[in-house]
Amino acid sequence: MKDYYEILGVSRNASLNEIKKSYRKLAIKYHPDKNPNNKKISEEKFKEAAEAYSVLSDNNKRKQYDQFGKTGGTSSSMNMDDIFSNFGDIFSDEFESFTEFNFNTKKKKKNKFRGSNLRIIININIEDIYKGVNKIIKVKRMKVAPGIKFKNCNNCNGTGVVTNITNTFLGRMQTTIQCNFCNGIGKIIKNIPIYANYNGLIQVEELVNIKIPYGVTDGMQLKISGKGNEAPFGGRPGDLIILIKEIPHKKFKREGKNIHYNLYISIPDAILGTIKKIKTLSEVIQIKITSGTQSGNKLQFKGKGLPSISGYEYGNFIININVWIPKKISYEQKKFFEKNKKDENFLPKKNKIKSFFDKVREIFN
Ligand SMILES: [Zn+2]
Repeated sequence: MKDYYEILGVSRNASLNEIKKSYRKLAIKYHPDKNPNNKKISEEKFKEAAEAYSVLSDNNKRKQYDQFGKTGGTSSSMNMDDIFSNFGDIFSDEFESFTEFNFNTKKKKKNKFRGSNLRIIININIEDIYKGVNKIIKVKRMKVAPGIKFKNCNNCNGTGVVTNITNTFLGRMQTTIQCNFCNGIGKIIKNIPIYANYNGLIQVEELVNIKIPYGVTDGMQLKISGKGNEAPFGGRPGDLIILIKEIPHKKFKREGKNIHYNLYISIPDAILGTIKKIKTLSEVIQIKITSGTQSGNKLQFKGKGLPSISGYEYGNFIININVWIPKKISYEQKKFFEKNKKDENFLPKKNKIKSFFDKVREIFN
């Protein structure tokens, strides 16, 4: 048997921190799960390091060891579970996953296989958001090959674990490790169809009908449970995650449930007044532009916006009025405006500008 300091590759006056570091490195290097082709030897090395660490990390035990060598009492039986429950705290996250998956044999065994999630992006326009829409999407997903059969694993008799008892100088050492033949499932595939992968899965193209509710927003994720990749050995299938991408509308700008619409009117229409027809998401509305309408006036139509995803309320349809100023005008027009430049009527009168509700009446069609 090698010297504990030699096993951990540290000097005799190494600090506890150095010992910890070195052990951690060795434990990761020799973890049986990281050495599937060399399980026996790596497991021995792994235990050797754990034993050395158990002594050198304990001040009293270390003193005793320094003085008397290996006569100092150490635990007589150390199995993999013990190693993890005793020294698990020095391992990082990468190790926790190992302990959880492969060494926690005391926990009720459950099928650890779970199909992975699938993610797709669905582009959706405001019209579809207004009403909700059904989309049929082609999805490539892994499914359990038809006609596949399972049988009990002979290596572990269907238990998923293998127990080894070895005699060492520490006494009888019992190790319970996950069966590497069936990966702890206890079952193996009886007949893998040639077109399936080693887990008995095949990739299929499936049409999935996706019901997108009204009122969704850009970036929202919808989950369709169980429509992701299927899992081998009867595990739970993954989910199909749908990311909603809103296609920007040419005329409407969305702000939550509200729809903004920029309406441009001409100078004569702003001065003389007119009637305009505007197509909202639900209907065509007719609005009256009263004479003397200012640029920046707003018309608000309650409940003509988008529905909320959670309830029955609808947002508003807001029309922002802009008066269009031409860049080029004719000679006569220029003459006219020059003539009226100083005219009282054309001078801005800030105090007399009333709110848009007073100035512009809404006409519902
Ligand atoms: Zn097995």
